[in-house]
Amino acid sequence: MSYHVTLIPGDGIGPEVAQAARVVAEATGVGIEWEVVDAGERAIKARGSPLPPEVLDSIRRNKVALKGPITTPIGSGFRSVNVALRQELDLYASVRPARAIAGEGTRYPETNLIVVREATEGLYSGVEHWVDREHSAAETVNVITRRASDRIVRFAFELARREHRPHVTAVHKANIMKTTGALFQSAFRELAPRYPEILADERLIDNMCMQLVKKPEEYNVIVTTNLMGDILSDLCAGLAGGLGVAPGALFGETMAVFEPVHGSAPKYAGQDKADPVAEILSLELMLRHLGETPAADRVFRAVWETIAEKKVVTYDLALPGYTLTPVPPSSCSAMAREIARKVPLVDLSAPLPSASKGRGEPASIDPNLETS
Ligand code: NAD
Repeated sequence: MSYHVTLIPGDGIGPEVAQAARVVAEATGVGIEWEVVDAGERAIKARGSPLPPEVLDSIRRNKVALKGPITTPIGSGFRSVNVALRQELDLYASVRPARAIAGEGTRYPETNLIVVREATEGLYSGVEHWVDREHSAAETVNVITRRASDRIVRFAFELARREHRPHVTAVHKANIMKTTGALFQSAFRELAPRYPEILADERLIDNMCMQLVKKPEEYNVIVTTNLMGDILSDLCAGLAGGLGVAPGALFGETMAVFEPVHGSAPKYAGQDKADPVAEILSLELMLRHLGETPAADRVFRAVWETIAEKKVVTYDLALPGYTLTPVPPSSCSAMAREIARKVPLVDLSAPLPSASKGRGEPASIDPNLETS
C-alpha cells in the first residue's frame, strides 16, 4: 500500500531539507507517493501567487502534507503563506515537541516537552490596519474565540492523555488582557477537571519564559495562544538544541501538515549546509500520524545515533554551541544519507546512546566556521 502525501519543498533551504527527508523516507520502506506542489517564492514566479489553489486542493485530497519553510516578506509584501495555509485548511493545532537529542547540544538535557499552540486566530488573525493616513498609529486585533480556545485546550489534554504525559500548563496574560486572556483561561479552567489524572496549572507568559530557562524539565505540555506559542516554541527549540533539530506538526479535524519550526534561512540556501534534522523529525511525526510506528521509531533512533556519534553532522551540530568537542561539519545531504543508512540497521531494543564526550575541555573555535 502507498500513501499519497503532498510535498511542499518551500523556499531558501526548504528544497534541500525536503530532499533530505525524502531520502530518509525511502529508507524506511514505507510506500509514499509524493505529490510535489510549490508555494511561496517559487509559486509566485511560476504561477503568480504564493499560495496557488492546487496547493490547497492537493492537501485537501491527500489529507497529509510534508512542508519545507516558506519565506514571508517582513513588514510589507504578501501575507504569510504559513498563516494563510493554517487558516484556509483550519489547521488549528500547532504541535512542537522539544526534546534534547543525545544530551550534549543543550544545557538542559532533560528537556522533553511539547508546545501546543492555537494556530488560526489570536494576533495572527490578519485583522490589522493603520489608524491614520500618516501611518503614525496602527492596530492589530487579537481575536480570541471560545470555540477555538475550547478545541485547542481539549487537543492539548487529549494529547497528554494519549502520550501519558502527566502535566498540562496553560500560558496566557489574563492579568493584563482581561477579555482575550480571560476567555482562554476560562476555557482551560472549565475543561481541566475532565482530565482528573492530569495535573493542570497556569503561568503568565513572562513568568513562563523565566521558568523555562531555569527548569524546563518541570514542564510537560504547554498550551497557549498563537503569538505566545510561536515565541515559546522557538524558545523551547533553543532549550532542546536549536532550530536545526526542532520538528513540528499542524493538525485540523481531518488534515495534518508536518513542518520544521525553523524558517527558510535564506543565507544558507543552495549551499547544502543546513541541518536536515528538523525536517526529518517532522517526517517522523508524519509517519506516526500515518500509523507507521516502527518506521517512525527507526527514523528517530537513526537521527539520535547520528547526532550522538558526531561523525556526519551539519555545522550547527558540529561546532561549539552544540558540542563541547567540535568536529568537521558535513553537508545536509551527507547527514541525510547517513541517517538513511542507519534506518534499517538500528536496534530499537538497545538503550539510546549519549553523545560521545571527547576530552571535556573547552572547545577551540575555528574563526572560519560560523555558528548561526
Ligand atoms: P530562520 O529559522 O530561517 O533562521 C533563524 C536562524 O537559524 C538563522 O541563523 C538560520 O541560519 C538558522 N537556521 C534555521 N534553520 C536552520 C537549519 N535547518 N540548519 C541550520 N541553521 C538553521 O528564521 P528567520 O531568519 O527569522 O526567517 C527566515 C524566513 O523564514 C522569513 O521569511 C520567515 O518569515 C520564514 N519563516 C518561515 C517559517 C515556516 O515556513 N513555517 C517559520 C519561521 C520563519
